[in-house]
Amino acid sequence: MIQNKIQEVSKLLLKSKYLVAFTGAGVSVESGIPPFRGDDGLYNQYDPRTLEIDYYYQYPEKSWQVIKEIFYDFFEQKHPNEGHKTLAKWESEGLLKALITQNIDNLHALAGSETVFEFHGNSSRLVCSQCRSYFQVKDMILNNKPPTCPKCKFILKPDFVFFGEGIPQDAYNKSFNAASKCDLFFIIGTSGDVAPANFLPEIAKNQGATIIEINREPSKYTSHTTDIFLQGKSGEILPEIDKYFQKLIYE
Ligand code: NAD
Repeated sequence: MIQNKIQEVSKLLLKSKYLVAFTGAGVSVESGIPPFRGDDGLYNQYDPRTLEIDYYYQYPEKSWQVIKEIFYDFFEQKHPNEGHKTLAKWESEGLLKALITQNIDNLHALAGSETVFEFHGNSSRLVCSQCRSYFQVKDMILNNKPPTCPKCKFILKPDFVFFGEGIPQDAYNKSFNAASKCDLFFIIGTSGDVAPANFLPEIAKNQGATIIEINREPSKYTSHTTDIFLQGKSGEILPEIDKYFQKLIYE
């Protein structure tokens, strides 16, 4: 029974000294953002080459049209769900020590999470590849052509990791560091297909952390990495764990 497992997890939360959460596309599904893969996946609707770094600089206008449609016109209308909000609450209560996300939709920050290790960057920022200046998308006027740097006039790029780019060093180091010292590690809404982020649960497991997984479907982790698998929606299961956890605190 999932309720028994949820109670078991809330007891582990109470004992935990260093909780880390690792999220993927699934945590934002209930906010209306589909994953990349699968029947409704974004890959089926757009040409994935538009998210390759070489393609972006070679055909900036073609690429930008898709990027603007997905990451600015569409993402802009989306709001954090109860899953994002529960993680932000746990951080504010001092329970969650690190939140590592593969998502680029900025919904963890909008939910109130302050320390987020953005493994694949964040679409709400633009970066100039020439002078390395950063700009908030909300401060820019976007149109059908890629924006240019107000300082040096070079083309700006969304500050997320395109195919063919490396992981931001700071987020990489902080994520692996957190995984190597946690005692409880939550895998939430990720299939574990994307490297090198997908090594993080193994790192946590190998140094002795208990691994909790919340996913709609079993993943690569379920049979050999996960200790407790909670199958379902993170926007429902995370608040449910929190409900039991709050009861335990006041018992
Ligand atoms: P994935 O698409 O490979 O897997 C999604 C996982 O979420 C699956 O295991 C599925 O069972 C689970 N899931 C679906 N709905 C769920 C729900 N309501 N609650 C809990 N789990 C649910 O995603 P991934 O592993 O994150 O890899 C995809 C890559 O694409 C990542 O690098 C990510 O950055 C990127 N991406 C990001 C976004 C975003 O920013 N929101 C959206 C799509 C893809």
